[in-house]
Formats: sequence, structure tokens, C-alpha cells
Amino acid sequence: MVSDLPHVAYIALGSNIGRREKNIAAALNALELTKGVDIDVVSPLYETEAEGGPDDQDKYINGVARVHTNLSPERLLAVCQNIEDSLGRKRAVRWGPRTIDLDLLLFDSEIRSEPELTLPHPMMHERTFVMRPLCDIAPEGFHPVLEEPFSSILKELEANA
Ligand code: ADP
Ligand code: MG
Repeated sequence: MVSDLPHVAYIALGSNIGRREKNIAAALNALELTKGVDIDVVSPLYETEAEGGPDDQDKYINGVARVHTNLSPERLLAVCQNIEDSLGRKRAVRWGPRTIDLDLLLFDSEIRSEPELTLPHPMMHERTFVMRPLCDIAPEGFHPVLEEPFSSILKELEANA
């Protein structure tokens, strides 16, 4: 989609409760309906084992979306959190099961380290379930802190799996 919005951001999508694809579709729909946010492309969705958090969680569906936006990173994160809330996410357990999880992975090449908003997302490079769909849609991408291409980060994760 052609967009004249100035910033490019990547958002990780995850769901492991209920109709998982439907939850992700509903989140994407809500993002697209947000003024100042245009969805550019959505990666393939992958089914993945839950990592971290309580044992015996159901499998996740994960993907990554690239958006264009004129919002600030803080506003875009707030939009994501409002969508999580509106889709009924309960913030009970860290890394626990969730209807929908929307994490802000990257916002242009911004680097921040506040606890409310760390950019790039502090765990992205450790998570195959993030790096694989990210590489699908941004094969030439580059991690602004690690100064490493996404493709080599994914290769290392796969080699150590
Ligand atoms: P998790 O997905 O790690 O289980 P939540 O999504 O419920 O947990 O909460 C994540 C917390 O991390 C939020 O309070 C949010 O402000 C903070 N945070 C910091 N950086 C980011 C980021 N890049 N994307 C999303 N949340 C972030
Ligand atoms: Mg999250």
C-alpha cells in the first residue's frame, strides 16, 4: 500500500488464546482503522511453542506487521496497548497466555531505553518467533543497536536451536 506517512515501524503480533488467527486479524483491522497508521505488509503467520512464562501454555500464532505512521513511538505503543485491551487481554501473568500481544519492535532507527518503551524491543533478537517473520518482510533490515543484519541474527538463532 502506498502511504505518505513519514515513519516506518514494525509490530510483533502474537496470540495463544481462542481463535488465534481471528484475534490477529482483529488487531490488524483495528490498527488499519487507526488514524495516522497505515499497514504496509503483514508477514506469514507461524505456529510456535510458548517460550518463558508458565508451563503447559498453548501454542502461539506469531507474525510481524510493517506500518507507516505519523504518530510518535509512545503514541503508537499506546495504540497497541489499547487494541490489546479492547480485544480482552488480561494482564495477569508476565509472558502468560494472551488473546493478543502487540509489541513495538522497531521505530525507524530510534534507540530508547526507558522501561515503558525500549527500542528496538529488548528481546527481539533472542526470539526466533519474531526474527523469522521479520526477515520474511524485511530481509535487508539491520538492527540499529547490535549493528547486525536481521538475516544473520536469525541464522545464529537457528544454528543454536
Ligand atoms: P510481555 O509481552 O512482555 O509479556 P506486556 O506486553 O504485558 O508483557 O508488557 C510489556 C511492558 O513492557 C509494558 O509495560 C510496556 O510499557 C513495556 N515495553 C517496553 N518496551 C516495549 C516495546 N518495545 N514494545 C512493547 N512493550 C514495551
Ligand atoms: Mg507485550
